[in-house]
Amino acid sequence: MGTQWHVRYVNVGAAANPNLKFIIEERSLQSIVYDLSTYEPASMLSRFNAGDSLAPVALTSDQHAILQIALEVCAQTGGAFDPTVLPLVEAWGFGATEATHPPSDDLIRGLLDGVVGCDKLVIESSSSATSHTLRKAVPAASCDLSAVAKGYAVDRVARALEQVGITNYMVEIGGEVHVRGVNATGVPWRIGIQSPDAGNPGIQRVVSLVDRSMATSGDYRNFRVEDGKRYSHIIDPRTGRPITHGLASVSVLHKECAWADAYATAIMVLGPEAGFDFADEHGLEVFMIVHDGDGFVEKMTPGFEMILLKN
Ligand code: AMP
Ligand code: MG
Repeated sequence: MGTQWHVRYVNVGAAANPNLKFIIEERSLQSIVYDLSTYEPASMLSRFNAGDSLAPVALTSDQHAILQIALEVCAQTGGAFDPTVLPLVEAWGFGATEATHPPSDDLIRGLLDGVVGCDKLVIESSSSATSHTLRKAVPAASCDLSAVAKGYAVDRVARALEQVGITNYMVEIGGEVHVRGVNATGVPWRIGIQSPDAGNPGIQRVVSLVDRSMATSGDYRNFRVEDGKRYSHIIDPRTGRPITHGLASVSVLHKECAWADAYATAIMVLGPEAGFDFADEHGLEVFMIVHDGDGFVEKMTPGFEMILLKN
């Protein structure tokens, strides 16, 4: 997934588990990368995207679970979050190869009309709902789960730790986090939210979390500057262009990191106002950092404010 993982755990009185790295890397992460990465050419998703067959392919339970989350957040956001956005991500140079120019209006229009949209992916389930398939509605459709895969992988690693009896831990993959229990000093884990200010990098806020996930999406994390203009890697599928509003970073708390991850990207697309309203409507705990002139201002939902106050 082009990132790193980081696990801390407290196992008072027990010997360190010598198999832990194997459990995390081979048993949890490798299968997710094999299933879901769009960076890995041999992954199931890369092969699905590269082909133009409309035939259904069988889904693993991980693939099905993550696709369900992506398609549900797509429906909830009216398509602001959209797992079929990959051709636009690639056209803007944020895919496997870098682009030298922004795409033409005609190309954007063609992609929006023909290949982008949640209706371009169809999940079908057996009558017993125990097996599921995915098919394309049009040959050029594709599926990008990058906006939710890191969070999903965090959940998988957390589950694997619990299966070997670890109940005090912090799992982090590329900035998406899940914590349970307490840290080595016996208090809840403290998680930092990065400042998006390139001129003054550091920690903007610290939150103490108990049995929660936090995911962050930001315009400062992956962007390109061309002719003095900044292009974000997050594309608004309603315009076909990188987002341009003033939301610099959004952090979302949720029980499950996959949902936190999807919602963080979704709110990043919706922007500071519509994104805040969305968080409010869905009862999400959300923290935003918004560009304000040369500086930044913070904006948070009452639920998030309560958590900061308890710190
Ligand atoms: P994240 O870092 O979780 O916010 O995910 C960002 C990644 O999600 C990008 O690098 C793209 O691969 C993908 N992406 C970009 N725009 C969207 C969108 N509107 N909906 C879903 N995924 C997106
Ligand atoms: Mg995300």
